[in-house]
Amino acid sequence: MIFRDRISIITGASQGIGEVIAHEFAAEGAAVMLVDIQKAKLDEVAKKIADKGGKAAVYEADVSNYGQVSAVVESVIKDYKKIDHLINNAGITKDGFLLRMREEEWDAVIAVNLKGIFNFSKAVIRSMIGSRYGRIVSLSSVVGLMGNVGQANYAASKAGLIGFTKSLAREVASRGITVNAVAPGYIATPMTAGLPEQAKTAFLSIIPVQRFGKPAEVAHAVKFLCSDEAAYITGQVIQVNGGMYM
Ligand code: NAP
Repeated sequence: MIFRDRISIITGASQGIGEVIAHEFAAEGAAVMLVDIQKAKLDEVAKKIADKGGKAAVYEADVSNYGQVSAVVESVIKDYKKIDHLINNAGITKDGFLLRMREEEWDAVIAVNLKGIFNFSKAVIRSMIGSRYGRIVSLSSVVGLMGNVGQANYAASKAGLIGFTKSLAREVASRGITVNAVAPGYIATPMTAGLPEQAKTAFLSIIPVQRFGKPAEVAHAVKFLCSDEAAYITGQVIQVNGGMYM
């Protein structure tokens, strides 16, 4: 168990990639702090983890809300005394051609996908500096690297996240804290389930591995970046995309 006695905050943990990360970390002995906007769904995930003998706590919060995020982090530090891992996984899409994209669609995606990462990273960093240890991993996307039609807002948020990651990595590297990003390609989750069949076929045709990724394949990269073995890796973007973008 590589994460025994570790305290891990995972945002967007009620489904998809975040839920699988939570299960993987709990199986490695971490106490997982599950954050999402729907408490009922989080409770179910926490129960599944507890049934398997893992430790989980639930925090209902919107990552884009600075006050709510600060309150979550204060509560975790009060109860658990430290934070070892922050996994910035919560994310949304509001797709559309720029010609038709509404201001609210731009603002919402930037607020959750980019400001959410600022909110949580800022809230945990003082504690991590104090303990001279920390791992921050944020979920970017292949779209943040290559762009995508109809996703100017999402691509901007996921590319912005990479600049944030590299900057923070430089600021805190000397304090035992690493800051990295994982950029998944097309992963089979509720986020991608609703895409039209035509779009799915188009994606498959540009993936050399010739299949969509599994949430666990992303979770394994996140787990590695949080391990002690990854102490010399910081400011990096690990791509998990079946070769879709190289
Ligand atoms: P998902 O199935 O849609 O799950 C995202 C989770 O984030 C949901 O539980 C969602 O809650 C939660 N969330 C949304 N807004 C939130 C907010 N304001 N505060 C707190 N939680 C919030 O997505 P996924 O496919 O697992 O993706 C996870 C991450 O990987 C995202 O950052 C995504 O952009 C990135 N990613 C995914 C893919 C892919 O192919 N799936 C590819 C590249 C990158 P609700 O369901 O209640 O709204």
